[in-house]
Amino acid sequence: MRPMGVRSATLSAPGLVHKAGPVRIFNTLTRRKEVVKPLKDKRLGMYACGLTVYDFAHIGNLRTYVFEDVLRRVLEFNGFKVKHVMNITDVGHLTSDADTGEDKMELGARRERKTAWEISERYAKLFLQDEAMLNIEKPQIIPKATDHIGEMIKLIRLLEKKGYTYVTDDGVYFDTSKSRGYGKLARLKLGGMMPGARIEANPQKRNPSDFALWKFSPKGSKRDMEWNSPWGVGFPGWHLECSAMSMKYLGKTFDIHCGGIDHIPIHHTNEIAQSEGATGKKFVNYWVHAAHLIVEGKRMAKSLGNFYTLSTITDKGYDPMSLRFFYLQAHYRRELNFTYEALDAARNAIESVQEFVRKLNEHEGPKSDTRVQAMILHTGVRFVKAMNDDLDTPEALAVLFRFIGEMNRFMDEDLVSKADAKTALKLMFLFDRILGLNLKRSLEKAVLPERAKELIEERERARKIGDYAHADAIRRRLRDEFGVALEDTPQGVKWKKSQVPAS
Ligand code: AMP
Ligand code: ZN
Repeated sequence: MRPMGVRSATLSAPGLVHKAGPVRIFNTLTRRKEVVKPLKDKRLGMYACGLTVYDFAHIGNLRTYVFEDVLRRVLEFNGFKVKHVMNITDVGHLTSDADTGEDKMELGARRERKTAWEISERYAKLFLQDEAMLNIEKPQIIPKATDHIGEMIKLIRLLEKKGYTYVTDDGVYFDTSKSRGYGKLARLKLGGMMPGARIEANPQKRNPSDFALWKFSPKGSKRDMEWNSPWGVGFPGWHLECSAMSMKYLGKTFDIHCGGIDHIPIHHTNEIAQSEGATGKKFVNYWVHAAHLIVEGKRMAKSLGNFYTLSTITDKGYDPMSLRFFYLQAHYRRELNFTYEALDAARNAIESVQEFVRKLNEHEGPKSDTRVQAMILHTGVRFVKAMNDDLDTPEALAVLFRFIGEMNRFMDEDLVSKADAKTALKLMFLFDRILGLNLKRSLEKAVLPERAKELIEERERARKIGDYAHADAIRRRLRDEFGVALEDTPQGVKWKKSQVPAS
């Protein structure tokens, strides 16, 4: 008979969840941690604002998408069925989050001498590849704003009928003075000045916080992206897009809406105003926001030019999982400062976890000890407790590393049987359902395909003659086609199986 503790019913997601207690999450709306209770059964609708696809995603954006992925994984681990919708913003997000400046898509198009349509197609595809490389579970629905213009026009008509709108020379606006509770998410005072929303930018605006639902194409010029509407040719406002798409796929009231904290005062505030104005119902139950990735004290942002992309990092030989691990080391509601030293530390840490997984897998030992089994179970519960407590990833990782330390000690003392090591391994893989670090990959025997070998040799030759551009191109090719990452060390070039090859 197996000693008490680690029966497989307990060492399963439902078993651990049962002992760890419910998921609680910090709701920006109430400024409190709340137990997640779905509107319906065990189902949760979750909407995430997707990337504005006028350029590469930077690793700040990707921090937010990894956080959303971890949230989804925690909820799924707890037995919820999550319907995850993430849009693609391919029109209407102006260079200022308020209604001034240029459409970012047009900016991208001019920069690359392409049409806005070509830009959006290219960067949306690259963004989804980045997500796959970071092992982010693909949202079930990825709607594009430009495919939902009809829904947006309908929403404006509804708001117009209810008396929320007015027309100026440059567009149709939402009158925030008519919206009850406007600004409740950000705790704004009506009429207060919002970042970027200066009244003199458009003297026809009735209140500084009013925002565009529809903007007219500039007189005398034709945009790449424009549509007819009952009010004139133009394009939708950015906030309206998310209201239309989220309600279409998740209903008038849904469970969870997430994004980065920069979206609280304008984008999400305005989504609430127009959605609740149109339906007369509460829009979202839980608003969940991630803090920013910063670099040298400043938010990482394309407009500041201080950003790195995922390729910047993989081109230097880092595996995307090191970046994912780096993100997880900080709580999502805390700012996180990016440095290469910190990324190196994350790489070392994840490599020691992978090493531990291999060690467990190969471990042989006849003796079993009840202390080991009790510790495995205890660790499982503590880990899930930490994750269920507003996604406390730093605490969960601390639990994980203590576990590694204790298991190593027990193994040194010859107290771990083969079966117990397998149970510990099972626990590591259970954790990884939440962490998403692809730990199973550490057990794959890496075999280098012939063609990849040739490419590595070709790269070595290119480096010898100083053709670094060619060498870098080969490195990228190895990564994208073969999922192989290269690292140049004093002992020569090393390779390892890296991320999922780009599809
Ligand atoms: P955008 O393309 O501007 O709509 O941004 C896409 C997502 O990335 C949004 O959820 C933003 O809140 C988020 N975001 C933007 N900058 C950062 C940053 N430096 N750190 C973390 N998240 C960010
Ligand atoms: Zn949005």
